[in-house]
Amino acid sequence: MTTTSNFSLYGIGVSGGIAIGRTKLVSHATLDVSQYQIDPAHITDEVNRLDLAIAGVRNELRALRDEMATSELADDIEAFIDIQETLLNDDALSENTKAYIVEHGCNAEWALVQQMDAWLAQFDQIEDEYLRERKFDIMQVVERVLKQLTGHVGVAAPDVGVESHTILVAHDLSPADVLQYKYHRFAAFVTDLGGATSHTAIVARSLGVPALSGLRLARQLIREGEMVIVDGDSGSIIVNPSRAVLAQYRERYQQQKERREALMSLVRRRPKTKDGVETSLFINIEMPDNFTAAQKVGAQGIGLFRTEFLYLNREELPDERTQFLAYRRVVRGMKGKPVILRTLDLGADKIHAGIDSLARVMPNPALGLRAIRLCFAEQALFTTQLRAILRASVFGNLKMMIPLLSSAEEIRQALDIIDGVKKTLDEEGVAYDRNIDIGAMIEVPSAAIAIEPFLKRFSFLSIGTNDLVQYLLAVDRSDQAVSRLYDPVHPAMLRLLSHVLKHAEKAKIPVSMCGEMAGDPEMTRLLLGLGLRHFSMSASTLLAVKERILNTDLGAQKKSIARILRSNSSLKTRALIEQLNQS
Ligand code: PEP
Ligand code: MG
Repeated sequence: MTTTSNFSLYGIGVSGGIAIGRTKLVSHATLDVSQYQIDPAHITDEVNRLDLAIAGVRNELRALRDEMATSELADDIEAFIDIQETLLNDDALSENTKAYIVEHGCNAEWALVQQMDAWLAQFDQIEDEYLRERKFDIMQVVERVLKQLTGHVGVAAPDVGVESHTILVAHDLSPADVLQYKYHRFAAFVTDLGGATSHTAIVARSLGVPALSGLRLARQLIREGEMVIVDGDSGSIIVNPSRAVLAQYRERYQQQKERREALMSLVRRRPKTKDGVETSLFINIEMPDNFTAAQKVGAQGIGLFRTEFLYLNREELPDERTQFLAYRRVVRGMKGKPVILRTLDLGADKIHAGIDSLARVMPNPALGLRAIRLCFAEQALFTTQLRAILRASVFGNLKMMIPLLSSAEEIRQALDIIDGVKKTLDEEGVAYDRNIDIGAMIEVPSAAIAIEPFLKRFSFLSIGTNDLVQYLLAVDRSDQAVSRLYDPVHPAMLRLLSHVLKHAEKAKIPVSMCGEMAGDPEMTRLLLGLGLRHFSMSASTLLAVKERILNTDLGAQKKSIARILRSNSSLKTRALIEQLNQS
C-alpha cells in the first residue's frame, strides 16, 4: 500500500499564478522520456518522425566512420559503428517500435524506450557474457535515436487537453527543453535548479504558466501522479494538499482566471498615465509564431525577438533562407508595427552543438564567448544572420539590435561587419532597407557607465536588466544558490538605470527596457519615475503593467523617487517601492 504524505517545498516563483494538477516527472537523462497520446490523425506523422530520426542516426554513424577513418583507433571505431548499425537495422528497434506507436497511439520516444526495455530483458536471459555486454550498445543506439527525435519535434505535440492540469517536475530544464514543452501545454513547471531570470524561467513566463525553480529536492521528493498546488506568486508547491487547502486554492485559481479576463478590457486602452504621460508597451518573443500574442494583448510592437531560439532544438544551424523566412513572417505579420530583432545571443545557457567555438568547456560561460562575442569569433554565423535580417527588412518595420556590447571598439567592429554585409548585398543587387534602425542592448555595466559612444552610434537603446543585474552584482542569473543576491532594486542598479535614462533623454535617443524588470507591475511606477517610457515584456504580463500605468500619477511621485534613489539599502528601497505602489 502506498501512503501519501502532505508537505510543502519552497523555491523561487519565476512565473506567477496558480496551477493545480497531477505531476509528471521528467529528468534530463535522455532515456527518461515522457509518455503522451498522439491524435489518431497524426499517427503516421509520428511513425515518419521515428523513420527520420533513425535515418539521422545512420547519417551520424556514417559521418563518424569517415571522420575516424585515418585515426589510430579506426579499427576499434569501425567495429563499434558496425554493431550500432546492425542494431539500428534490427526489426526489434525500428519495426517493433513503429508497431507499438500504432497499437498504443503513443509518442515515438515512449514506444522506443518500451521496445528497448523488452529487448534488454531478453539479453538478461543470455548466458554469453559478450552478448550480455551488447546491452550497453543497445542503450547507446537508442539514446542516439532519442536525441534525433528531440531535434524533430514536428507534430508530436501531445494532447493533454486545452486546459492542461499536468505539472512538470524536473531536476533541471534547459531553455530548449521548455521551448519544446511549449507544445505540451503543461499547467506549470517545477525545477530543482535555476534562478528567476534564467532563460528557462523567461520561456516559462512567455508561455504564461506558473513556474517555480530552485526547489532543490522536488524531483526526488515528489512522486509521479501526485496532486499538487503550484503557487508561482509565493514560490511554493504543496504536495497532496488537504481538502480545505485545495478548496482555498481552487477559489484563488478562479479569482486568477477572473482577473485575467478583467484585464482583457484594457487591450484597447492607450498606455497613458493619469496625468497624461504617454508610454509604449511591446512584447518579447522567442519564436516567430509568438508574434500573434502582440495583437491579443494590444502591444505596439515586438520590442525583443530573441532570435537565438531559432537555433535551439534542431540538428543543423538554420541557413539564411530559413532565417529570412522566419523574420519575414514576423515582420509581415506585424503589419508595419515595429519589430526589434536581436542578433544572436547564443552561448552561456543557450548552446548549439554545431558551433565549434561553443564545443569546448568554458570555465565561466556567462563571462565567456556569448552573444556578439561569439558572432565575432564565428563571423560566418553572424553574416548569415545579418543577410537574412537585411533581406527581411523590406517587408515591414524591422529594426535590429546587438546584444552584450561593452565598448566603443566592439561597437565599431559590429557596425563595420554590418556595413560589409550591406555592401555585399548592394553588389548582388539584393534589396534591403537602407535606413534600417540599428540599436544596442545596454546589459553590461561598462556600456551603461561609459554610454556616450552608444548614444552616438545607435538610433535606439534597450536596457537588458536580466544581464545588467547579473554582471553589475556578480550574481549568476541561472544559479539558484545565489538567487538571494540577485537584486534588481539594489541601489547601484537603480542609480545606473537613472544614469542611462538621463543621458539617453539628453541625447534624444529612445531607450526601452526589455529585461524582466520591465514586465513586473511592482516596478512600473518606479521605472516611470526614473524616466522610462518604453517597456517590452512577456505578453503574459503586459496588461497588468498597463493597468499600473493607467493608475499612476507621475507628477505626484517625484519626491518618492528621489528618496528611493538616495536609499543605500535594498530593504529600505523595497519598503519605499511598496509605499509608492500603494499611493
Ligand atoms: C536581458 O539581459 O535583460 C535581456 C533582455 O536579454 P536575455 O534575457 O535574453 O539575456
Ligand atoms: Mg541579455
